[in-house]
Amino acid sequence: MSFSKLRPVGGRVPLPKANCGVLAAPWAGYYDSVFVNSGTAALSLAVKLSVNCRHTLQSPEVILPAYGCPDLVAAVIAQGARPVLIDLAEGRPWMNLEAVENAVTGNTVGIIAVGFLGIPERLFALRRIADKNDVVLIEDSAQVFPPFSCGNGLADYLVLSFGRGKPINLIGGGALLIRKDHVQQSASVLAALPEVQVSAGAAWRFKRWLINLLLTRPLYGLMERIPFLGIGQTVFHPLASINRQTPVEGLLEAGVQGYNNRKDNGAAYSEALLELTGKDWVQLAPECFEEMTREGLVPASSNLLRYPLLAPSRQIRDKALLELNRGGIGASAFYGQALPAIDGVSELVAFTPSAFPCACDFAERLITLPAHQDVCLEDIQCVAGILLGQS
Ligand SMILES: *Cc1c(COP(=O)(O)O)cnc(C)c1O
Repeated sequence: MSFSKLRPVGGRVPLPKANCGVLAAPWAGYYDSVFVNSGTAALSLAVKLSVNCRHTLQSPEVILPAYGCPDLVAAVIAQGARPVLIDLAEGRPWMNLEAVENAVTGNTVGIIAVGFLGIPERLFALRRIADKNDVVLIEDSAQVFPPFSCGNGLADYLVLSFGRGKPINLIGGGALLIRKDHVQQSASVLAALPEVQVSAGAAWRFKRWLINLLLTRPLYGLMERIPFLGIGQTVFHPLASINRQTPVEGLLEAGVQGYNNRKDNGAAYSEALLELTGKDWVQLAPECFEEMTREGLVPASSNLLRYPLLAPSRQIRDKALLELNRGGIGASAFYGQALPAIDGVSELVAFTPSAFPCACDFAERLITLPAHQDVCLEDIQCVAGILLGQS
């Protein structure tokens, strides 16, 4: 029996580029960057700045989707704000826009628009709701690079993550991008943050080598079998601290370049899996991008972090997960549950999962397939063979 397994997600960590000069960031026209210790820290800082705009409020509220990363809740809670969860639109990774409008109250300070595995949220519609109610719009682009707002300045704040399993893996770190009209008012908050230095010394280089080694098929398959590592599990961690942390010199530049040069295998997946659509499966990426195009929204990239599908039912999804993983493909249910059902989150949000039928249905039927740089055509054909064979 082989342990070999294609990892579900995650780019290799690049080597820093020498003498690259200053990064011409794709967001530089509208946003200034602040580098911090994680994506969660960046998001929490955005929430803090949103709360500060409305300092008279006793109990600030922040709107976010009911299906997503538990770090969203951690970032909001850390600033003493209340997370207000919103059900998804049916069969989509997007918030139900009517539910967002209905959830805005006098206490709302911000709306978090969360991109999903390379598919951005509907920023124009959310911008309209934010403007109408005079609240801040935060684009959490931890899973989407580059962010939707970077060429149009729609969101007030953008959040990037450079952690494991994100588009650009720099062994951790994150960035808060502040729209230029908010830079002055955020200066005092930023000046108060402690600063942590990271250097690309021998220890960093060894860590990079080891992380990249563990991403290879034989070692990933082995590592996944070690229970205490908890690989692939969704758990809630409170946010411990927010520090400024500049990436190793030349590393972000190398990461951006590597990501831009990556081949996009979404089209190969949609083609290989075309027959599934007639069998009640939903190919989320092509459908969402098509819907966005019809509404005149042009994402900056269609590069996916993982290839997402909705199975016809939970039973079929679970069977597909089992068979793909047996076949050496790291398929995943992703978060597995709507936010209020995740351990540690349920105590913090005043909602039960049953309040979010679409988010629960999405969590039960979602399956994600690897789409990273080491996925080859044979892998996609292997996936198609298994999924078309079982349905
Ligand atoms: C991973 C993630 C975060 C948190 O980023 P870290 O760098 O892991 O703290 C926030 N939001 C979303 C949507 C994420 O996927």
